[in-house]
Amino acid sequence: MAQHRIVVVGGGFAGLSVINGLKGTEADITLVDRRNHHLFQPLLYQVATTVLATSEIAWPIRRLFRTRREVSTLLDEVTGVDRLAKTVSLRSGAVLPYDTLVLGTGARHAYFGHDEWEGVAPGLKTLEDATTIRRRILLAFERAELTDKTLEADALLTFAIIGAGPTGVELAGMIGELANNILPPEFRKIDTRRTRVLLIEAGPRVLPAFSEDLSEYAKTALGKLGVDVRLGQAVTAITEEGVTIGDSFVPCRTVVWAAGVQASPAAKWVDAPADRAGRAQVGQDLTVEGDNDVFVIGDTALVNQVNGKPVPGIAPAAKQQGAYVARVIKARLEGKAAPAPFRYRHQGSLATIGKRAAVIDFGRIKLTGALAWWIWGLAHIYFLIGTRSRLAVAWSWLWIYLSGQHSARLITQKETLKSDP
Ligand SMILES: Cc1cc2nc3c(=O)[nH]c(=O)nc-3n(C[C@H](O)[C@H](O)[C@H](O)COP(=O)(O)OP(=O)(O)OC[C@H]3O[C@@H](n4cnc5c(N)ncnc54)[C@H](O)[C@@H]3O)c2cc1C
Repeated sequence: MAQHRIVVVGGGFAGLSVINGLKGTEADITLVDRRNHHLFQPLLYQVATTVLATSEIAWPIRRLFRTRREVSTLLDEVTGVDRLAKTVSLRSGAVLPYDTLVLGTGARHAYFGHDEWEGVAPGLKTLEDATTIRRRILLAFERAELTDKTLEADALLTFAIIGAGPTGVELAGMIGELANNILPPEFRKIDTRRTRVLLIEAGPRVLPAFSEDLSEYAKTALGKLGVDVRLGQAVTAITEEGVTIGDSFVPCRTVVWAAGVQASPAAKWVDAPADRAGRAQVGQDLTVEGDNDVFVIGDTALVNQVNGKPVPGIAPAAKQQGAYVARVIKARLEGKAAPAPFRYRHQGSLATIGKRAAVIDFGRIKLTGALAWWIWGLAHIYFLIGTRSRLAVAWSWLWIYLSGQHSARLITQKETLKSDP
């Protein structure tokens, strides 16, 4: 009898978790991803802020499954799904047949109808985004050292981060750290401690997914790093000259977008209902309505928790969904009863602020400060893949902790600004 064909699209947390859970199953598994690597997005901000190198937080997908003979990896982009014919179309022109399809294609940043802002205010989602942001941050300091114009230097030394969720807070804190504690001895003309980091948030507090006392702690810790937190203020325009917050214009040359996400077009491919963020509505077994053979999981899926709120778009949720789908597929292939409906278990929320502070919200247990920072660090090292990465990241952090030096500070690829001569 022909093997059951499982196509998994997306080698993110969700997709990898499905394939890991299917170990030992009699099936032909094909993993399609448009990138050749799995990326540990929670540490992307550290690449953007010169702490870690790209290869420390990403792994070639093909290598991850080298010992799983039943798993084939294709570097290609899915462009559509034909549910009637049970095929997936790829950018290369190939058409992949499936018996079971799992879509875990994640999300990207959304600019709330202002896509023209993307060029000036990149979001942080891929390694390319992280190295673009890193280049812009480092070039801003270099250009400020070169210019004789005070106003231009001020604009170059002003960084605006839009959105005060964990990514915005972590970026702002780490830029503050760079400017105040890492770069000062290296520049001769400018005092990098003059740097202004603006963290702009339309909502009433930073880290809205955390409890109010932890938000307040994070805001105070950001203040100590010189970050100017602007709450309840929306950005109305972004250009190469600066950002407009409400009616007031702030000249600045580096803007990073950390607000709003848009799911991948998976809902359109399979013709499923979607919410405003484009997430495909799935049932409690994570299949799309009317088609038991198509699962949508991770950031690109919309499924409710027991309390009626949507499962959050975070890594543990994507992993839990992937593991659940593997159990459903296994049960089907082995002719066993289907597992109970998917239930998300929240394990806690963590975010860092600069080099020595963090907040951790485990519900009843809440931690702040250096202890939280150490727990945050150990948890992230634990979740990396493989001993080499764990040792490399642990060593990079220890080195920074002891020496105060960030080593991933190479400026690669060209970047031109309107103000360049
Ligand atoms: C900067 C940042 C910081 C974060 N910090 C945290 C954190 O601290 N803690 C936490 O829990 N979560 C964090 N998250 C969220 C977490 O990373 C996501 O929830 C998680 O990655 C979702 O997993 P996923 O598998 O659904 O999607 P992803 O991990 O995004 O994977 C999707 C995969 O699909 C591939 N893909 C997309 N479209 C196609 C296509 N058409 N064809 C082929 N392949 C495709 C992509 O290349 C990618 O490999 C963070 C996210 C970001 C961006």
